[in-house]
Amino acid sequence: MLVVMRAQATDEQVRAVCQKIEALGYRAHAMPGAQRTAIGITGNSGEVEAGSLEEMPGVHEVIRVSKPYKLVSRDTKPDTTIIRFPNSAVTVGGQDLAIIAGPCGIESRDQAFNTAERVATAGAQFFRGGAYKPRTSPYSFQGLGEEGLKIMAEIRDQFGLLIVTEAVDYESLDLVDQYADVIQIGARNMQNFSLLKRAGRARKAVLLKRGLSATLEEFLMAAEYIMSEGNYNVILCERGVRTFADHTRNTLDLSIVPAVQRLSHLPIIVDPSHGTGKRNKVTPLSRAAIAVGADGLMVEVHHDPDAALSDGMQSLFPDQFDALMTQVRLIAAVLDRDIPVPTKRRAELASSAG
Ligand code: PEP
Ligand code: MN
Repeated sequence: MLVVMRAQATDEQVRAVCQKIEALGYRAHAMPGAQRTAIGITGNSGEVEAGSLEEMPGVHEVIRVSKPYKLVSRDTKPDTTIIRFPNSAVTVGGQDLAIIAGPCGIESRDQAFNTAERVATAGAQFFRGGAYKPRTSPYSFQGLGEEGLKIMAEIRDQFGLLIVTEAVDYESLDLVDQYADVIQIGARNMQNFSLLKRAGRARKAVLLKRGLSATLEEFLMAAEYIMSEGNYNVILCERGVRTFADHTRNTLDLSIVPAVQRLSHLPIIVDPSHGTGKRNKVTPLSRAAIAVGADGLMVEVHHDPDAALSDGMQSLFPDQFDALMTQVRLIAAVLDRDIPVPTKRRAELASSAG
């Protein structure tokens, strides 16, 4: 059920409706929009008795939500969610595209700093890197753990990049919540429902990657798990699905971007690195992702990909990432989207022009 408030409803009236919903034993999720606030009701197994809510001051209508997801739906919140970060001008889902770049895994302080310097200069606003790596083999590099998170926190201080890193279980989620700006939930955990609920109780934004064989509805339901616990800052990420095709590691499903945008207000970005698994396909698919309307990119970059401890084959050299940024900036402009030039780079451009 969804309570749609009148455009003129006051904050007090919204609060009173939320209190009434909670008193009935359900959970209320107020979603302010540009025109009006809608209040999602969760925790009900059947239909909620609408009568008493319909009569409350400020209520426009009470509607049944027929789709299985409620809080992620555009019916609940017609305008696209813009995710903001404390003490930062960076946004996800607004006019600016979010560019997340960095190595697959944090391997050492030198490796992370070398790569971070290059992606910051090229204009990424977020630095990615796994401190906890979900690897197919237990004998492969598993990540540096908390030491990796500390290195990332230093990178935030030094380069002003926001930090995105994966949590693989409850224990790592607690730590990632302390150190990072965005908690990544990986493809393999997209249907780890207890982890999704835990992420829903975290204070940080969550980047949710599509499962290896997840349908659109399963993907949105996973986001609904996070939101149902009260964390509304969810960024969806298409990263390819498993198909019969073997010329790439996965098949990047760019059609899910407009499909999600039709059904949900949540921002969606694309990861062409895991989506293709091949370095030579990352830039073309990045261009396509921006052209199709994605809200940003997640790209693996390594200062020395041949020596990478994971995903070297799909990691770009920093020079290739520079070229990618130049190209996607041009494509973004066609769609009236921006990739803000970092302050340091702006100063360099100004001095070389002068
Ligand atoms: C990653 O981003 O490094 C990663 C492991 O991604 P995915 O969960 O999409 O495989
Ligand atoms: Mn990787």
